[in-house]
Amino acid sequence: MNYASLEILRMDVPIGTNQYHDDGFVESIMEHSKELSKFYGYSNEYCDKILSRGNIIGAHYLVAGHHHIFYLKPFTNTETIRIRAHEETHVPDSVGKIGILEERLFEEQGVKINFLEIEEKEIKAELGALYALRSRNIPIWRASLFHDNRDWSVAKKIYKQSKVPRKMIFSWL
Ligand SMILES: [Zn+2]
Repeated sequence: MNYASLEILRMDVPIGTNQYHDDGFVESIMEHSKELSKFYGYSNEYCDKILSRGNIIGAHYLVAGHHHIFYLKPFTNTETIRIRAHEETHVPDSVGKIGILEERLFEEQGVKINFLEIEEKEIKAELGALYALRSRNIPIWRASLFHDNRDWSVAKKIYKQSKVPRKMIFSWL
């Protein structure tokens, strides 16, 4: 059994016989995708998909049993955590292991989300980013200033609404 060691999510995800590669910062998402397609002997289908999505700042590319993640630079530290955690979250999600994130969110942050109810993988990826920011005590608004989009807004809403209220405990000393 192989594991993907996700650095920003601080999570080891079983990925069967697949392999995991964090390719780090790249100059161009498109060029790197093309290189990977060429390396594995695949068509440029994935690159066309990227082109159609326009302004793309990071990618998770699963090709021939290899998970590759890569992203643009430069970003601030906060932005880097957001984008890297986003791409990392696509790994457990794509192999049916998003339950690991679900457990972490509940146990560490008191946020109860049923990921089976969320169909859009980009929203799930943004929830991974929110988890990573929160676990470092980074205010969410700081990461909201960059690349705000519909998925990010929806994820923030889900995160906020899924917080389990802490029970009030009264103690008399
Ligand atoms: Zn994504």
